[in-house]
Amino acid sequence: MPRLAILIMAAGQGMRAGGAIPKQYAPLLGRPMLRRAVEAFAAWPDAILQVMIGAGQEELYREATAGLALRPPAHGGLTRQESVHVGLEGLESAAPDFVLIHDAARPLVSRKLVESVIAALDAGAEAAVPLLPVADTLRKLDNGEWITVPRAGLLRAQTPQGFRFAEILRAHREHFDEDVTDDMALAELAGLSIVVTPGEESNMKVTNAEDFATAEMLLMARQGETRTASGFDVHRFTAGDHIWLCGIKLAHDHGLEGHSDADAGLHALTDALLGTIAAGDIGHHFPPTDERWRGATSSIFLDHAARLVREKGGTIVHCDLTIICERPKVGPHREAMRARIAEILNIDASRVSVKATTTEGMGFAGRREGIAAQAMATVRLP
Ligand code: MG
Repeated sequence: MPRLAILIMAAGQGMRAGGAIPKQYAPLLGRPMLRRAVEAFAAWPDAILQVMIGAGQEELYREATAGLALRPPAHGGLTRQESVHVGLEGLESAAPDFVLIHDAARPLVSRKLVESVIAALDAGAEAAVPLLPVADTLRKLDNGEWITVPRAGLLRAQTPQGFRFAEILRAHREHFDEDVTDDMALAELAGLSIVVTPGEESNMKVTNAEDFATAEMLLMARQGETRTASGFDVHRFTAGDHIWLCGIKLAHDHGLEGHSDADAGLHALTDALLGTIAAGDIGHHFPPTDERWRGATSSIFLDHAARLVREKGGTIVHCDLTIICERPKVGPHREAMRARIAEILNIDASRVSVKATTTEGMGFAGRREGIAAQAMATVRLP
């Protein structure tokens, strides 16, 4: 395999309209734009990925890329062209065969688009650039007068633009004093032949406030649909000295009756999760007639439901439980319950809510005959 380098340009100082930080660090549907741009290349783990940042952006970069295994960022120059040049010089010792040069301001680039650029280089292209036709007729100021420019024959260039590494480095060295807006223009000056690959409308350049809104809509559409479902369960008190509730063992003056450990909280939540994928209920998956589940820890049921959601490509967004009983008091155990549920579901505890209420002494819960639980689960499915 030829060695591939990816240069991500994030050195700009331009602010998002109304924002206080350079726009590549601003959140795009909850994640910094730069992080999304970097993650778009996750399918090429063997490539050398170098991010170019601006002066004073170290802390923003660290926060935006926390948890990603990246080489340290490098500092760019005063212009984009200078920053690319510096980045290429820094990669020279690694001697990659190809380099993709990409703007962090295009965080929605698809795997398919990148694959097309790499395929063109693999097939022998000196330069490969994703291009799109122009849909609008253009107006141009010409010698102080506005004239109409026919759109026929006009193309828009996107990134990543791919090059043979040695060739584009040479182009930058030889033409550093020419003012160009992208690397394709430099490649042209250096006499490289340019192969056209398909661009994509969704690979938009996110520049102003309206672009942020459009990009967020595109991201939401990619995330698929959100589903919410509920679950409900009740278990009766019986003789005993402890109960299981939300995965936690609590000392109590009664036990709870049930085939398994009778954890009404986890049962309600299991049903809610199964509901999001219309996969029946807990009794269908774990029949009370089955001796295997006698005295079983209910974490098995919840783990199974979460696995079924994941097998459908789903992500658990949020779980919310309400425990209904007079006793025991849930409040002192709330955080332990949240942590245990988060552990079983393998999600962050901030996505798990546990609440409790009494029924003011009324009904079966009020008469302390048992414990009820209701749950809501929200998942995102492709
Ligand atoms: Mg039950």
